[in-house]
Amino acid sequence: MGTTERPIIDIHTHIGRLPGMVGEQFTAADLLYVCHQEGVHRMLVSSASATTVGQHFGAEETAAMVRDSGGRLAGMLWVNPHDPAWQDDVELAVRHGFKGIKIHPVLDHYDVDRSALDEVFACARTHGWPILTHTDGDGSTMGAARYEPLIRAWPEVPLVLAHLRLAAVPLAKRYANVFLDTTYVDPAMVELAVDALGPSKILFGTDAAEGFEVGHAVARARPRRTYAGLISALEERGIGAADLDRIVYTNARDLFALD
Ligand SMILES: [Zn+2]
Repeated sequence: MGTTERPIIDIHTHIGRLPGMVGEQFTAADLLYVCHQEGVHRMLVSSASATTVGQHFGAEETAAMVRDSGGRLAGMLWVNPHDPAWQDDVELAVRHGFKGIKIHPVLDHYDVDRSALDEVFACARTHGWPILTHTDGDGSTMGAARYEPLIRAWPEVPLVLAHLRLAAVPLAKRYANVFLDTTYVDPAMVELAVDALGPSKILFGTDAAEGFEVGHAVARARPRRTYAGLISALEERGIGAADLDRIVYTNARDLFALD
């Protein structure tokens, strides 16, 4: 397995009760185990319980995680705009120094458009929070292209389109506030995105703890992954050390104002 030398910030991780299988859940202790074993400096974490149980349950879980981890695990507020009380968790997130908002239109069942998300973007702007979103496949009503009206309407809100879809690349090229993440992305696609955009628009994410060794048996076995393996796969695509440092660390530190 091994650890890597370079500092790493993983911007896309989850605790909580995962969708798809009752009983599969990860805790702050699981993510801290991964951090220690694999040399991850910090993680940005949202709770999947927000979609499987309820938004407030997930927000409370995330706040408790921030308290217990000494800040190594930083909170992201998973917002479900269907929840009529979604704004009630904003104060909790502010109090616990959350670093941004996570949205997941697929799991929370809504099409991406301004009527669904204008208020969420307004909240992000008020608090200086970037938004990380699950980006669905190109052409779907939850795909990258559907975000363009929001990107234009809210230029002060950084938007990270996760999973580096092809249709997200020109958006990141055209708009200063659009970024991409590497979560579950083929390393060849990351190579092409670096060629198209340079390294400053791409951030490292994994959807940990899925697939990582957490020190105990888990409910759903997944193909094993390691940070060293993910990063060496990027190196093998010819992405140089300076670019990699930006992708796995500096861009996240600067975008999410991490110390
Ligand atoms: Zn995710």
